[in-house]
Amino acid sequence: MTEVPNPFVQKPDPYRCSRCGFCLAVCPTYRLAPREPDSPRGRLVLLSSRPLSPVASACLDRCLGCRACEAACPAGASPARAVQARATLSCPSPTGRLIAGLLRFAARTIIPAPGRLRLALRLLHLLDRTFLQLLKLFPGQLSETLALLAALLTPFAPPRAPRRTSLLPARTEEKWRVAFFTGCLMESALRATNDAAIALLRQAGCTVVIPPAQTCCGALAYHLGDKKTAAKLARQNLDAFAAAEPYDFVVVTAAACAVHLREYPELFPAASPAQDAARSFAVRVRELAEFLRETAPPLLPAAPGKVAYHESCLLRNTAHASALPAVLSRLPGVEILPAPHLGCCGSAGTYLLRHPDVALALLDAEVAALARTGAATVVTDNPGCLLFLRYGLERHNLTGKIAVRHLATFLRAERQDRQ
Ligand code: SF4
Ligand code: SF4
Repeated sequence: MTEVPNPFVQKPDPYRCSRCGFCLAVCPTYRLAPREPDSPRGRLVLLSSRPLSPVASACLDRCLGCRACEAACPAGASPARAVQARATLSCPSPTGRLIAGLLRFAARTIIPAPGRLRLALRLLHLLDRTFLQLLKLFPGQLSETLALLAALLTPFAPPRAPRRTSLLPARTEEKWRVAFFTGCLMESALRATNDAAIALLRQAGCTVVIPPAQTCCGALAYHLGDKKTAAKLARQNLDAFAAAEPYDFVVVTAAACAVHLREYPELFPAASPAQDAARSFAVRVRELAEFLRETAPPLLPAAPGKVAYHESCLLRNTAHASALPAVLSRLPGVEILPAPHLGCCGSAGTYLLRHPDVALALLDAEVAALARTGAATVVTDNPGCLLFLRYGLERHNLTGKIAVRHLATFLRAERQDRQ
């Protein structure tokens, strides 16, 4: 089996910079604005200056957290982690602080509560999208952010789906016991994708256990600087998955959640029982493509043909080996059309809501690159990228010409297994 690297085994020292500049070429924000303070090494310099000026704060806040700098750094520095290790976000403008505060509130009270999240999505769905787009007529970042949020989420009316059964037997001889991480947005807005993944796993010889007490992974709270909520959600998940033992793997359909779950040990004091539990959990976490690459079950595409793929930057930059193209290249009848890696599509958790200008510039470049491949289908591994790419295609009148699909729904699973 392929070993998935665990980030806490060779933990980078966030600040160990030798100023070589290798990271400049891979940093998406430096590519957009080639100024030293908007580069990874520039951000490390800014972090050591006190007090932070509003301009320095703005440069730090523009970091996407994509970790391309960490993957490229020969000295083992991680400017992204150094930025995230700050006590809290230091948004320079009052509007930025208001938006970050609202997002922190949502990450603490709405997103981890499935009932509240579904209600919020239903309310957004009921609101007329055109009405919400009128917000754009009011100048200012807040109206731009709300209009973007509405455009992304109004298509989703969460289905009134039955509660999930917590134990689903393998459809063939059992090879693995898999604990399934449902996720927050994934389960509320894209539940059919989770259904397809569970069906695939059962056909591949997995008995699927779905811990009922699991919650949001906490990545949104963590990246918004709310470390207390992030640790609380991590503890809830560790307890929920401990109750589901024994299992071989934790399978996740959202690449960004998989990365955060693997980094749970860093949320707890060194050598504490909580950190030991987090390590035992983290080494078994696999994003869906990683699991399929490692276990190599027979797979078929739902629709053969030419595809391009878009990997979550966070997973690509932390896993050190790309699972998504490896799985796609094994599928009969599928031809992969290469698109250049531009770093990040701009979604980056809540980044697109905090910095819509940067996010949309990155999205436009990504959509143009994907369109140039001529592929009719783009396969991705992360819900944030999926929603933002769909929005980007609509923005460029490409809906109908290019479809964006999650890997789980791109692979063929028998319908009767979707329960
Ligand atoms: S962060 Fe790493 S890659 Fe970038 S300048 Fe410093 S040592 Fe070089
Ligand atoms: S995490 Fe991404 S955006 Fe932030 S400094 Fe590193 S490469 Fe640049």
